[in-house]
Amino acid sequence: MDKVLIVRYGEISLKGKNRYQFENRLLDNMKAALKGLPQRKIEKTYGRIYVDLSDAEHADEMIQRITRVFGIHSVSPAQSVPLDLGAIREEARQQMARMNPSTFKVETSRPYKRFPMTSPEVSREVGGYVLSQLPDWKVDVHRPEVVINVEIRQEGAFVYSEQIKGLGGLPVGSTGKALLLISGGIDSPVAGWLTMKRGVQPVGLHFHSFPFTSERAKDKVVDLCRILTSYGRSFRLYVNHFTEIQKAIRKQCPEEFYVTLMRRMMFRLAEAVALQEKALALVTGENLGQVASQTLESMAAINEVTKLPVLRPLITMDKAEIIELACQIGTYETSILPYEDCCTLFLPKHPATRPNLERVREAEEALDIPGLMEESLAKTEVINL
Ligand code: ATP
Ligand code: MG
Repeated sequence: MDKVLIVRYGEISLKGKNRYQFENRLLDNMKAALKGLPQRKIEKTYGRIYVDLSDAEHADEMIQRITRVFGIHSVSPAQSVPLDLGAIREEARQQMARMNPSTFKVETSRPYKRFPMTSPEVSREVGGYVLSQLPDWKVDVHRPEVVINVEIRQEGAFVYSEQIKGLGGLPVGSTGKALLLISGGIDSPVAGWLTMKRGVQPVGLHFHSFPFTSERAKDKVVDLCRILTSYGRSFRLYVNHFTEIQKAIRKQCPEEFYVTLMRRMMFRLAEAVALQEKALALVTGENLGQVASQTLESMAAINEVTKLPVLRPLITMDKAEIIELACQIGTYETSILPYEDCCTLFLPKHPATRPNLERVREAEEALDIPGLMEESLAKTEVINL
């Protein structure tokens, strides 16, 4: 490999004994991210990964895809050269000539201590050589336009001038699996993305009220999940037919509790799917105080029906911050498409914002919960993304 992408990973290098597992997961996720492109060599050495970047036609696309993989701190497209001062300084000159900045400096790191020169010596030599060849340029050690980096490692020397930030986080799949309750809205895809960032492998669950909600509303959720898969591995989406449950609630329960009861049913069904999928937690896009059902009292009333931990990564965020993140990760445009959601269909005029638990339980007694769940689960459709 002469043109390589240096991939640095931050946090996972701290994970001690488990490091290899994390590294292998990262490697797998990178390979998955590059699927569909011509296969290139990916090499793992101590503390970093190199990807063969000699395929110039696809280099940009490869870099773009790799910087979406969670667990990566930064990447640098670099030229690898033999461990020889002549080769290093000539490569530095060529890179400078291509960029043609007015000021520069050379920075060297030398993890490979057997190399006969110290880092400052290498920087001085390389800088001096570049200046001697291209005398119009100036060295500026404080605010250079370009920094030429030289890394002296056992496997070779690397020369580069660009460092592109990754997303950080942990490789998807490295911290376990969780069930993401995903609507077509703005919030839940962002919540899913944030848990993926912490290494969670999602499984999606969407509640659909066919025929009251359209096929397009479902497609929108599929599209949102597809966007999420581009940050990790593909995952499964369960589409649950929620219509009969909503009808039963509407027919048999007091209007003020519709939302609470609907949510309790959602969490029960979610727990059932999670158990089946061996997922260890539920994830929602709930956010404190955003709507009537998102008060602490409501959350308590909803939470009561499940033993699984419920992760709510957006709980402290403002709507504007959530929207900003949705734009950044690329879900916003899809989320704001105007297809109806099952929850808004049966929205009562005056939902209880502080549902009393005793009264909620009482209201629920009218429902045949096991029967409704069984029927609804039997109709659940599975989509492999
Ligand atoms: P979102 O923007 O994610 O739709 P929201 O602000 O509309 O959230 P709610 O309608 O109270 O808030 O929903 C809260 C959470 O419940 C959602 O973030 C999602 O995790 C889950 N949820 C709501 N509707 C559905 C649905 N149809 N299918 C799956 N999960 C849902
Ligand atoms: Mg919603």
